[in-house]
Amino acid sequence: MTGQPMTADQMTGTDHLVDGWEVIIGLEVHIELNTKTKMFSPTPNAFGAEPNTLVGAVDLALPGTLPMVNHQAIADAIKIGLATNCAISPTSHFSRKNYFYPDMPKNYQTSQYTVAICENGYLDVDVDGQMWRIGIERIHMEEDTGKSTHVGESGRIHGAEHSLLDYNRAGVPLLECVSRPDMRTPAQAQAYLSALREIVAALGISDARLEEGSMRCDANVSVHKPGTPFGVRAEVKNLNSVRSLGRAITFEIRRQIDAIESGETLVQETRHFNEDTGKTSTMRRKETLDDYRFFPCPDLPDINPSTEWIESIRETLPELPAVTRARMMDQGIDAEAAGIIYSSGLTKLYDAAVAAQANPSDVAKWLTNQVAAWQNETGRDVNELLDGTTLAELLELVTKGTLATQGAHKVLLSYLAGEGSIAELAPAHAQMSDTAELEAIIDQVIADNQDAADKVRAGNPKAMGALMGPIMKATRGKANPGLVNELLRAKLS
Ligand code: ADP
Ligand code: MG
Repeated sequence: MTGQPMTADQMTGTDHLVDGWEVIIGLEVHIELNTKTKMFSPTPNAFGAEPNTLVGAVDLALPGTLPMVNHQAIADAIKIGLATNCAISPTSHFSRKNYFYPDMPKNYQTSQYTVAICENGYLDVDVDGQMWRIGIERIHMEEDTGKSTHVGESGRIHGAEHSLLDYNRAGVPLLECVSRPDMRTPAQAQAYLSALREIVAALGISDARLEEGSMRCDANVSVHKPGTPFGVRAEVKNLNSVRSLGRAITFEIRRQIDAIESGETLVQETRHFNEDTGKTSTMRRKETLDDYRFFPCPDLPDINPSTEWIESIRETLPELPAVTRARMMDQGIDAEAAGIIYSSGLTKLYDAAVAAQANPSDVAKWLTNQVAAWQNETGRDVNELLDGTTLAELLELVTKGTLATQGAHKVLLSYLAGEGSIAELAPAHAQMSDTAELEAIIDQVIADNQDAADKVRAGNPKAMGALMGPIMKATRGKANPGLVNELLRAKLS
């Protein structure tokens, strides 16, 4: 870990300036909760059902219906609030945000406006080894809209032949997490979004997939000269990955600077990021708050979570991602490896192997190389097949010299293919450490590769490789490399 986190205010120097302009970034992240039912109704909350099959009278606000707040959604909001260092408001409220759009059948969205359930939090994120503290203004509860599909070549409303509406998503519980304008570079914004997504995934409150829209990020970007007020912001939508977020911000910074420098006056607007071109384009002028005519929802009670309830939720929180990574790093694992282990879902396996006395660095090496590769290739979860004790058993054979890395890799693959236990599989791949047997092979290889042998004799150690290769090939990778090296040197010195 690298000392104290720095806040945006403490950011000094000119490193982060772009052509003398300071960049201000704030993110709004929507998180779709995976509760069983919708935010204000008993309608099931599920993804991928036939269009318009998960729609109830309350979701459409038909006359005479009354909403009820989903208890689990409140608990989930409290969870993420606690995990992001927010204060949980003793009393918060729901308001109606009034606007018309065909995908919102009620003509208002129920959302928290004056007071949010979680306020004033922060996340510390690691950007290239430097810790940054990014403030969280609020996390509030609201409901999702339905989904419009614009049929036509553009896929957008402009130029559409017609539009389809699916109300299954209308009323799905959403959390909106609004950051403070504390980010100064695309990398900081990406690190913040990644950290937030990891927390959401660790809490298990959402599928947390940016690609599929269960997490959605809007980036607010502006530029100004240091020491002057913040510039006019553009809010960029349609960011479907952490990578897109970085690309969109980078494009937007350039566009804004070029516009201002060529004398244009920027207006506050919502822009759309085009994945294919890497460019943003105007969607609409930003509505001002007055346009929405917010008013308190007369149908919903205040949300007053008791201290006891909040504390009981705190006790159920899992170890948070940053803590898990820091723990691995304390055991000598570098940040990159810790990140791979964490994001590949291999933390439990790591912990169990270390608990079974395996060396943490060896475990990390195997998990980030062979095991992560196996998962990528097979698309399977290794945790279903391999436990920490078994991995530790395998690594011990490598440490003892019974297995070479290559042989151990083969044993692992056979084990994962269900061909037997480590003890059963190891002998067939055991390392060759019989000196006489190896010498015979080495003599043959020297005889077949006189050129390389002469070069080594002439004092060119690099030529050793040309001999090692055929020896390993002849022993099908089983030769003890240390021993071969020693024998070769003795023969050619
Ligand atoms: P809205 O819904 O109108 O977009 P929010 O309050 O929900 O407003 O979100 C505003 C977001 O914009 C916040 O994340 C905030 O940090 C960010 N922001 C505010 N001012 C600026 C600015 N000048 N430049 C960049 N981001 C900004
Ligand atoms: Mg907003």
